[in-house]
Amino acid sequence: MSVDQVTHKTRASYISKFNLQQRRNAQYVCAGVLFALLAFSLWDIHYLGASHDAIYALLLSRFAIPLPLFIFIFIKTYQVQPVVPLHQLVTLGMLMVFSSLFMVHIIYYNLGITLPIDSILLCSVITYFIPNIFYYQKLGLSLFIMFWYISFLHYIDLPQNEIIRAAIYLFFVNLAGLVHSVSFDKERRSNFDKTQFLESMARTDQLTGTENRHKFDERFVELLEQGKLENQGIAIAIVDIDCFKQYNDNYGHLAGDECLIKVAHGLLTLKRHPLDACIRFGGEEFILIRYGVTLEETTRWGQKIINTIYALNLPHAYSDAENRITISAGLIHWHPTSSLARTQLMTLADHALYKAKQNGRNQVQIHLSKEN
Ligand code: GH3
Ligand code: MG
Ligand code: MG
Repeated sequence: MSVDQVTHKTRASYISKFNLQQRRNAQYVCAGVLFALLAFSLWDIHYLGASHDAIYALLLSRFAIPLPLFIFIFIKTYQVQPVVPLHQLVTLGMLMVFSSLFMVHIIYYNLGITLPIDSILLCSVITYFIPNIFYYQKLGLSLFIMFWYISFLHYIDLPQNEIIRAAIYLFFVNLAGLVHSVSFDKERRSNFDKTQFLESMARTDQLTGTENRHKFDERFVELLEQGKLENQGIAIAIVDIDCFKQYNDNYGHLAGDECLIKVAHGLLTLKRHPLDACIRFGGEEFILIRYGVTLEETTRWGQKIINTIYALNLPHAYSDAENRITISAGLIHWHPTSSLARTQLMTLADHALYKAKQNGRNQVQIHLSKEN
């Protein structure tokens, strides 16, 4: 597996993970916007006086749309599934804030006060620092500001040279912001891909492509919790290749590796549910997990594991069990009411595997007892 293979997963999956990771930043944006709305409203009141006729219209312009929208976005940041497209919601929210800003400019203008360009420049700059949106959204927002501001200057009949001066300022702010955010986005995506790659490397057994033992114990506990939550049974199998030492001794270690890979691929085909797992536990031993099964289904599944590897028909002339590669499996069915802990389950499955080996190999043994 290479970084490229991980990188070229769809952009949709990147955006979905991006939105999950950026929930805290989206909360900061909401808090920042609400703080700014409040601060500018206080400024309005201080500047015009609380009893001024225009105060009501000003406060309404500032708060009417942005306040409910940002409260909605803030609440949505706590939603994990399905993932909320926060980058789009925040962009929409900022469009509303900037629209309200222009309404404020017009209200002031009608009062005979022309607000300076500073607030517009500030908005353009701030746009490029919003953490949870992409460069094209930042550019869109900034062009929106530029368009409305130039139109506004035209509407109020400002001399041509003043309009040109404002346009030049805004152009350079946008250019610098765009260059910065394009390279920032590129860097962020590349870091994301590298992290994904390293995470998947850390989880995967390099020889067979199955999962490795890394974090297995932790995930197993989580799996049992999930089973309890959804009232689902879980089957756990410990699988061991029969007479594999003889295989290595007679066919060579490299052929042994090839055989391990084929067996692992066979076992991987048994995965059905997203929570099913195939883990290389060590050497030629694997653990298989089947989520959401009854005891009867577990029994059938156990036999299917044995049959799947038997059907691969990998020759092994030196095996005590058959003239081909076979496996033995120890199986246990866990019920959500079970009081058995992880280590007890593994020990019991291991005992069942031992029994399968004792009984002549190429078979599955199920541990049956009242407590599981
Ligand atoms: P049994 O039926 O009782 O399980 O017999 P066995 O020969 O398989 O016994 P045992 O489990 O003791 O032997 C495991 C062998 O697996 C020993 C080791 O050489 C081989 N093995 C473990 N890991 C690898 C590996 O990564 N590649 C290869 N080629 N062989 C491995
Ligand atoms: Mg073994
Ligand atoms: Mg073995």
